[in-house]
Amino acid sequence: MSYVDEVIEQVIAKNPAEPEFHQAVKEVLESLRPVVDANEEKYRKEAILERIVNPERQFKFRVPWVDDKGQVRVNTGYRVQFNSAIGPYKGGLRLHPSVNLGIIKFLGFEQIFKNSLTGLPIGGGKGGSDFDPKGKSDREIMAFCQSFMTELCKYIGADTDVPAGDIGTGAREIGYMFGQYKRIRGVYEGVLTGKGLSYGGSLARTEATGYGLLYITKEMLKSNGVDIAGKTIAVSGAGNVAIYAIQKAQEMGAKVVTCSDSTGWIYDPDGIDVATLKDVKEVKRARLTEYKAARPNAEYHEGKGVWTVKCDIALPCATQNELDVEDAKTLVANGCIAVCEGANMPTTLEATQYLQDNKVYFVPGKAANAGGVATSALEMSQNSERLSWTFEEVDSKLQGIMVNIFHNLDEAAKKYGFEGNYVVGANIAGFEKVVDAMLAQGVC
Ligand code: NDP
Repeated sequence: MSYVDEVIEQVIAKNPAEPEFHQAVKEVLESLRPVVDANEEKYRKEAILERIVNPERQFKFRVPWVDDKGQVRVNTGYRVQFNSAIGPYKGGLRLHPSVNLGIIKFLGFEQIFKNSLTGLPIGGGKGGSDFDPKGKSDREIMAFCQSFMTELCKYIGADTDVPAGDIGTGAREIGYMFGQYKRIRGVYEGVLTGKGLSYGGSLARTEATGYGLLYITKEMLKSNGVDIAGKTIAVSGAGNVAIYAIQKAQEMGAKVVTCSDSTGWIYDPDGIDVATLKDVKEVKRARLTEYKAARPNAEYHEGKGVWTVKCDIALPCATQNELDVEDAKTLVANGCIAVCEGANMPTTLEATQYLQDNKVYFVPGKAANAGGVATSALEMSQNSERLSWTFEEVDSKLQGIMVNIFHNLDEAAKKYGFEGNYVVGANIAGFEKVVDAMLAQGVC
């Protein structure tokens, strides 16, 4: 049995009931076959694959808090410190009822390669809780965040592990967590990113993931002789990534006609109005039915359906496994030429395969949405310098990073004979740097 297959089997056997983690490991290891086969003896001896699929450490803890009725509630908190070969652990905190150890491990594993691809010195980690922020009062959110940080603060620090936002964790939650960290640890340091501008946040961090997605999409299309201007784009999600992806796509001259949330989706033939979408999602924190109410020409549909709309480019920006093989077939039948992942692992393995088999350009999330973590690393640099850079400075560094990521993965794919396969390219480019650092640091 090949080394890759052996390790995939071990991961499934040793981590039962963690299907998302299995999926992420399979996706990465399968695409690393050319590198692993070329170095099999050395990697086996050094147990490189066994080491890379096992987190350096993981924490699971109780998060008790009191709701507005005086009732004590209990959630579970997680932090997985996956790999610190190239820098302090870095990765977001997801607050969503679906969160469990397997989901955090899948995200943490992916984060290793994503962070490596940015070219910046950051290792891989991820955390979160099964807490559902929806419908909670500000006081309840604060109570949860303070309790969560009371435990988490024992394991993190500006030079060890620097968490950030993710689904359910925005500026408000980061603020409450930062305040609690400072209070308990008594140090003012860049321990979290995604902070508010008045206390060490970086300009352009809010926009970074969505903007970065468009910078890499544009560069990838350009290198294939396609201009993004004038293209029709379908976006899913209506959160942080989706909103700023839509905004940048429109600035680039494309027309975005869809967005969605967990209950329904919008088709707006005139192009999504970003100001209205921001008002509904960022200010009112309401459902997309409110968008429809403000834009009479738009259609609102219950459930899932964004990928049924005819488009040239699809940008899944909501959540994992939201684009399955049936969606991929519809996209191909409708003439879609590119899928670039704003969310983490939004496309199923089967759908990815189908898209690639049908010559759809496919840029995986670990490269396409790396702008968020890259800008978080820029926030860490600013905190260390005790300086703040201008929006233009950060945005221009972000553009440079995303363009570089594309060329690195494009070249890695070509080097191993997989030209145009950006999944293979991204995994190899991210993996090679981490492995090099792991080997240099000995058995640890
Ligand atoms: P948000 O919480 O801001 O937005 C998520 C959006 O997706 C919301 O519109 C939400 O709907 C929708 N959504 C969530 N679950 C589902 C579901 N099961 N079905 C359909 N829609 C759903 O998160 P972000 O925009 O920050 O993150 C989106 C994705 O991007 C995630 O995969 C995240 O890990 C990834 N990512 C985010 C980065 C960042 O900087 N923010 C960086 C890199 C990756 P509703 O409004 O109803 O909740």
